[in-house]
Amino acid sequence: GGIKDLSVEEKVTVKSKNLDVLAEYKKSNRKRSANFVVIGHVDAGKSTLMGRLLADQGAIDKRTLDKYRQEAEKIGKGSFALAWVLDQGSEERARGVTIDIATNKFETEKTAFTIVDAPGHRDFVPNMIAGASQADFAVLVIDSSVGKFESGLKGQTKEHALLVRSMGTQKIVVAVNKMDAVQWDHGRFEEIEQQISSFLTTAGFQEKNIAFVPCSGVLGDNIARRSEDPHAAWYSGRTLIEELEDSEPFTHALEKPLRMTISDVFRGGVQNPLSISGRLDAGSLQVGDQILTMPSGETAMVRSIEVDSDPSDWAVAGQNVVLNIANIDPIHLRSGDVVCRPSSPIPTITTFTTKVLAFEHLMPMQVDVHRGRLHVPARISKLVASLDKASGAAIKKRPKIVAPGTVARIVVEMDHAVPLEAPTRIVLRSGGSTVAAGLLE
Ligand code: GDP
Repeated sequence: GGIKDLSVEEKVTVKSKNLDVLAEYKKSNRKRSANFVVIGHVDAGKSTLMGRLLADQGAIDKRTLDKYRQEAEKIGKGSFALAWVLDQGSEERARGVTIDIATNKFETEKTAFTIVDAPGHRDFVPNMIAGASQADFAVLVIDSSVGKFESGLKGQTKEHALLVRSMGTQKIVVAVNKMDAVQWDHGRFEEIEQQISSFLTTAGFQEKNIAFVPCSGVLGDNIARRSEDPHAAWYSGRTLIEELEDSEPFTHALEKPLRMTISDVFRGGVQNPLSISGRLDAGSLQVGDQILTMPSGETAMVRSIEVDSDPSDWAVAGQNVVLNIANIDPIHLRSGDVVCRPSSPIPTITTFTTKVLAFEHLMPMQVDVHRGRLHVPARISKLVASLDKASGAAIKKRPKIVAPGTVARIVVEMDHAVPLEAPTRIVLRSGGSTVAAGLLE
């Protein structure tokens, strides 16, 4: 003997506690999880504002913050310290997880928030698309200082807002930022509110789902605490945090069949040789469950679960989880794959109809379909109609070509079958750039 037969691995078994997960969830008082994406023009103050949120909510330790402050002051840019906060908190990197979307987490009394995207990046759109596909709502940051607001509106502000709406995001919180720079000019705020509001409704957001907060990321005014500046006394509305907390209802489908898109696969831990991470899009799950991964059709067993980095016996839709699993060969697991139950697998399809926002001219053409990190070669086979952005009604049937900035319904045929079902946010890319993004119907 001597040579051990490695092909026969021992099966791991973990006894299920057979919990009624929904009942557990209801009595747990667990904080609700909410993801949001931050959008807005370069230099609107997105990084500073998010750094402020993380710092004010205690998501960053004082020593690190002091270190950033010192470094920032050394180069004469005190406020940059807050922006640098965003580069911290990626301990996932140290665990060997590859992330191209920086995630940052902070908590309020009721909610565990995750900021999904990389607001510091200049080349923002590809990251934002990945972020937007996981967002419950969006925070749009506007630079209120004179001249900047107008140029921002012409720039990325519109593009980003249209994109998140096209991908199915319903709620948007507008942080009218840098109000300190305009001495809290009430008229300025109202002018911005009016213009942005009219633009956002044209983009398809409902008025009741749009909120405005005048604030200053640098000073922390109206972020976690009310501004004490006498010039800001005209504002008696909510702080940004209060507005974020009110971003109910999150329509997470707790009672639907289990769906989780794998964002990362990592291996090599001593206790947990194989783990997958992602967000539970629908359903629930507990330790000891059998799962099915698609498209491989292979099953695995859930050894243990982490929810927002804490061990848990169970997880429900809306939560960001790590599943430590066994009884599967990792070659069957890829980011973009979908975890479900053997009893209700996600269908695999080759053709779908989708409503998209066009970034470039669309015609019958080759594209890549991206869903999260899954991507598949495909072609646009039919332009069904161009649509009105606000109402979704058909403006022109069977157009020969769809112009950039237009919303259209199209049919896409993929080169092979993939696990996809409505409603799913998808992106179409071609030649290295995003040509359209939208929602599978
Ligand atoms: P981003 O590109 O949107 O992430 O913007 P940054 O957070 O990097 O900020 C861009 C610039 O605006 C920096 O010089 C900041 O110091 C400045 N800034 C950010 N927030 C505020 C604010 O609330 N008030 C003022 N006056 N300046 C700000």
